[in-house]
Amino acid sequence: MKLGLAWPVPSHAQNQSHLWRAFVQKLYFLLYRHKNGTNFWNLRVKGSMSKYWKPGSERPTPLLVDDEEGGVLFVSNPASSSSSSQLERLRQRLPVYKYREAILYLVENHATSIIVGETGSGKTTQIPQYLKEAGWAEGGRVIACTQPRRLAVQSVASRVAEEMGVKLGEEVGYTIRFEDQTNPGLTMIKFLTDGVLIREMMDDPLLTKYSVIMVDEAHERSLSTDILLGLLKKIQRRRPDLRLVISSATIEAKSMASFFHIRRKNLRNDAIDAAPNQEPAILSVEGKGYTVEIHYVEEPVSDYLQASVETVISIHDKEGPGDVLVFLTGQDDIEAAVKMLTDEYNYSRGRSSDLLVLPLYSGLPRGEQDLIFAPTPRGKRKVVISTNIAETSLTLEGVVYVVDSGFSKQKFYNPISDIESLVTAPISKASARQRAGRAGRLRPGKCFRLYTEEYYLRDMPSEGIPEIQRSNLVSCIIQMKALGIDNILGFDWLSSPSAEAMVRALEVLYSLGILDEDAKLTSPLGFQVAELPLDPMVSKMLLSSCELGCSEEIVIIAAMLSVQSIWVSTRGVHKEFDEAKLRFAVAEGDHVAYLNVYKGFLQSGKSSQWCYRNFINYQAMKKAIDIREQLVRLLKRLGLTLKSCEGDLKMLRKAIISGFFAHACQLEEYSPNGMYKTLRSSQEVYIHPSSVLFRVNPKWVVYHSLVLTDKQYARNVIAIDPAWLIEAAPHFYQLRKPNPALF
Ligand code: ADP
Ligand code: MG
Repeated sequence: MKLGLAWPVPSHAQNQSHLWRAFVQKLYFLLYRHKNGTNFWNLRVKGSMSKYWKPGSERPTPLLVDDEEGGVLFVSNPASSSSSSQLERLRQRLPVYKYREAILYLVENHATSIIVGETGSGKTTQIPQYLKEAGWAEGGRVIACTQPRRLAVQSVASRVAEEMGVKLGEEVGYTIRFEDQTNPGLTMIKFLTDGVLIREMMDDPLLTKYSVIMVDEAHERSLSTDILLGLLKKIQRRRPDLRLVISSATIEAKSMASFFHIRRKNLRNDAIDAAPNQEPAILSVEGKGYTVEIHYVEEPVSDYLQASVETVISIHDKEGPGDVLVFLTGQDDIEAAVKMLTDEYNYSRGRSSDLLVLPLYSGLPRGEQDLIFAPTPRGKRKVVISTNIAETSLTLEGVVYVVDSGFSKQKFYNPISDIESLVTAPISKASARQRAGRAGRLRPGKCFRLYTEEYYLRDMPSEGIPEIQRSNLVSCIIQMKALGIDNILGFDWLSSPSAEAMVRALEVLYSLGILDEDAKLTSPLGFQVAELPLDPMVSKMLLSSCELGCSEEIVIIAAMLSVQSIWVSTRGVHKEFDEAKLRFAVAEGDHVAYLNVYKGFLQSGKSSQWCYRNFINYQAMKKAIDIREQLVRLLKRLGLTLKSCEGDLKMLRKAIISGFFAHACQLEEYSPNGMYKTLRSSQEVYIHPSSVLFRVNPKWVVYHSLVLTDKQYARNVIAIDPAWLIEAAPHFYQLRKPNPALF
């Protein structure tokens, strides 16, 4: 059977977008260097510091960052049991404290205040408290502080509640997707993700309950931050009483200021009299960072994971006291490094480790998060292995050494192939400087960069690309349409998304039946999709399941797909892990296996022991149950009811296809290693090893998402009959007729 796209791939399909090309070139460049380096196999950092340039050696002097003098900010780590007077003293020692009055003056008098300050200077935890103390939360009003990351939201909210001596969820609360820890009427300071704030605009377009909105970590330029900034600028014209605080570690403050400079004549007439100064104020909080010595590797390393482990051991052997912060890319890398460090170190020393090795990534259970902030036990050295969440969002005290792999996980979207993947990609100079700065909080520190100085100076891009220019815009478009913004390209963007990506997203939304020919949300489907806090493809799957009569099962699948990592990392017991997975595996694929896991968990009486025996993440399962309940409530609100398909797995897969038909792949004939090609753009993909269909390789599959590591892997895969594709999306796929000329 041959399937083809119903519409021809545009002729420019071969010409990849500029951004994508630049990115792929960079990857090739790195690969090329790594593979063809003159002494490739000698490049590893072999447990010795001799491969680094040291200050004072005949190599060029190391670069210094932030050579300001300063006093000790923290004498000891703030323990969770700190007394209130201790916490108060700590608060007053933060650099931002000296600027308290200035900040309050600016917020009072300017519509927008931009506050720039080093990570750890107290912006996130202190400014909302200052605003509350100054009365901005009186009369039932709320102070909002947005973060790009969920974990940061939870962490700073609990810190601020502790500092204020209140119970989290009362005066100080937080909201992230699927989790609301606030108490309307009581909550005065609310931390939330920028995505959640955008969603709140659907019910309250002018965000009337907020008196001040602090958009934090603006330098990260996450997709939602950019959308939010544009929307807030619109709200400001109608609400002279609203104050914006934009804060970040490094920011192009001037361009941000000119973006927010609203001319008075553009304000609504009834708003002019009451309006504060429209010219944004800029305030720079002077931090007290110490000198950080930068060390580079002499030659590119072939394996940054191994190199980072060896560097940590070497630091532990040769350097003085102080904790180590290692920047790797994602959960898999981090877990692997934790295991390598624990095993390798114990093995080589033959004694119980005096290293306390801790992972840090989003999705980490709360208990483990707390360990990160707890003081390092006497006689131990803490090693935190983190994603770039520790770059600016969270401050770890006690870090004196930083190991920077030079990579992070980044979203990249190719509008031509319509593939968005999470890619391990090189970081920018701005990120590298931030990472290094983490070593200079306590006293002079050292940063070990696992790349060459030449690479840093010559090839590393100075700034990252804003997420909006490397994202699939499908969700963004639905949200903006639901907020009544029709001309999305004409929207006031800080950086415009590419027209190509926009067209692609409109195409996909049209093919899903979410937008009509005039690019308006369809009724009811389009409006219903906008109501659900899920990826539009998952929403479409869920809504179709209500029609197909399998919503009881699909709502569980949607919940399971919304939590990170159902399986616990294998930690070297691959055989037992594979056997455990087999207990739930079914020929249909991962989605049905998740149903089995969910049922098994319920049957076990939601037992953590059962999870442990089956290599299943207990926290993730509890979360999935919670999300399922919320989704059921949302469906009820839309007037939809749950119905079971009573084991009709064909119906179940048809519902999945109705959302994910664009993610169909066919196994390449005669491919010895299970290579698939996407129907949409003939991209090579492989089934991810975590899938129950890994090595099973059915002929036709539909995947949920892609990750790119050494190859492009499809995660969460289901086997399908290709005829269902045409049935679900006749406007998208058609049977390819054999060419008579060939016979
Ligand atoms: P900024 O936003 O300027 O980067 P923060 O307000 O996040 O700074 O941090 C100020 C201080 O509060 C830091 O020194 C940090 O160590 C401390 N802190 C923040 N969150 C926590 C937490 N969850 N536990 C312990 N200390 C914290
Ligand atoms: Mg902060």
